[in-house]
Amino acid sequence: MRFSQLYAPTVREAPAEAEVVSHQLLLKAGFVRKTAGGIYTYLPLAWRVLRKIEQIVREEMDAKGGQEIAMPIVQPAEIWQESGRWEVYGDEMFRLRDRHSRSFCLGPTHEEIVTTLVKGDVRSYRQLPLLLYQIQNKYRDEIRPRFGLLRGREFIMKDLYSFDRDQAGLEASYRKMYDAYSRIFARCGLKFRPVEADSGAIGGSGSHEFMALANSGEAEIVYCESCDFAANIEKAELNPIAAREEETCAPEKVSTPNAATIKAVCAYLAVPVEKSVKAVGYKSDKGVVLAFVRGDHEVNAVKVLNTAGALTLSMAGEDELRAAGTEPGYMGLLPGKKNVTLVVDHSVMNMRNFVCGADVLGYHYVNVNPGRDFTPDFTADIRMIQETDPCPRCGGRLTKAKGIEVGQVFKLHTKYSEKLAANYLDENGKERPLVMGCYGIGVSRVMAAVIEQSSDDAGIIWPAAIAPYHVAVVPVNAKNAEQMKIAEEIYETLTAVGIETVLDDRAERAGVKFNDADLIGYPLRVTVGAKTAANRELEIKIRASGEVVFAPDGSWQEKIRELLAAL
Ligand code: ATP
Ligand code: MG
Repeated sequence: MRFSQLYAPTVREAPAEAEVVSHQLLLKAGFVRKTAGGIYTYLPLAWRVLRKIEQIVREEMDAKGGQEIAMPIVQPAEIWQESGRWEVYGDEMFRLRDRHSRSFCLGPTHEEIVTTLVKGDVRSYRQLPLLLYQIQNKYRDEIRPRFGLLRGREFIMKDLYSFDRDQAGLEASYRKMYDAYSRIFARCGLKFRPVEADSGAIGGSGSHEFMALANSGEAEIVYCESCDFAANIEKAELNPIAAREEETCAPEKVSTPNAATIKAVCAYLAVPVEKSVKAVGYKSDKGVVLAFVRGDHEVNAVKVLNTAGALTLSMAGEDELRAAGTEPGYMGLLPGKKNVTLVVDHSVMNMRNFVCGADVLGYHYVNVNPGRDFTPDFTADIRMIQETDPCPRCGGRLTKAKGIEVGQVFKLHTKYSEKLAANYLDENGKERPLVMGCYGIGVSRVMAAVIEQSSDDAGIIWPAAIAPYHVAVVPVNAKNAEQMKIAEEIYETLTAVGIETVLDDRAERAGVKFNDADLIGYPLRVTVGAKTAANRELEIKIRASGEVVFAPDGSWQEKIRELLAAL
């Protein structure tokens, strides 16, 4: 490709709204243009990168026995109503009506469609396992589309669905996908970590997320320095903390004026914070939920949602809390509230003689004891893990990191097959539900994640495997016919042997061309200057290291291949 013909409109400044480096560089280097909030047009350079990522994904899916299909983006409401997710998906789902007023959505994911498809065609255990996948646009009306391609409202996803006879089959399919994902992200040049994950709205139980490590990541993970424990902090399990046994005293309501925080209450009562319990008030589809943890701990809302068996959970307003018979800032555990679900952290159940709110303004109880003074609706691990906690597996030291979720794998079990009656006949002619898994990769998010990990002040640094082009050939002096001729020859030769090359044939100053080459991020730049012809050797600059190597005439094709293989 000749740069003069390439639709790669590079610009000096990215718009101020571009907060993260991938968003800035994709705009500056002429890879994408914004069409609407969270909706982008991919220009030729981006499209080449995306197709390469897709190709890697295809090869690894096919290697595990995956078969590629293409399902519709427009999906009828009925199948979502059948699975019970039409309501659950809420505002994140783009909904539309046809001319007959029938409801449809733009697919945010495809469990319903694929299960309905397979249900019509798969009858016997002999047809299993079955692994079906597609790569296409997904639509989610994200509450906060941002960071360019990292969180779009239209984005490219690979989604694979596995159908097995039983749990053992699901475990095998899950393992295959887990391994394929590890290979895919490694081939894309990402530094990543698989972590234990919550299953969220997709459902089922048993899930891992693949996190590309980056400070701009919206997800937080913890991992152990001694064992292989690694989890999203939303999911990271915690063991109950034992507390010292002591004689229980009688509960007593005490005045705690002007003490707005748990710290202030404890200071006022001269009690250590570890002997206090605090609460967070939520509203949910199950009504008001009060979640209690030790005063120096934090509540993990995802765990509360799962424990309460709720579908939605958000902060309750002051009026909602008062209507439930409690008081914001003074929420307590003793009886007297109306229609509330009490979810109590398992470590609280080991505490003795603690302080908690009295459900009225300005008062707390002291000497509260589990069992005797209150009975929770649910007792579970609902706490947010902290870096100071010991590893829940081995007691080792934990480290926190930020990550971009580039993929997630789920064991769905029979969640969808039971709802949608997708069954098969086993060897004995007995009808059984299909055992399913689902596995997603954010292809467009992967492209952005690579840039988050691999760039410098000058621009993007593409790993060779997914670079839009491998080599830029840059003649230093466009007015010099000899240089231009040599540059042409090099370009023609490289292109002919399948090395993807751009010839910067513009009548620009060398500095401008060098800057663009660095911005776009080709792994290699061949500089054609006055000495190139005289010395009969090629000057090759490696984008990642800045190193310049020289290859003598006759050997430079091999040299370029060798360099690319290492990038
Ligand atoms: P997130 O927690 O980041 O919103 P998710 O858990 O909702 O993502 P999944 O349903 O697991 O996403 O989708 C599979 C993959 O699709 C994700 O791992 C991610 O790489 C990608 N993805 C999800 N939402 C978006 C988005 N809004 N923009 C770009 N990629 C996305
Ligand atoms: Mg996910």
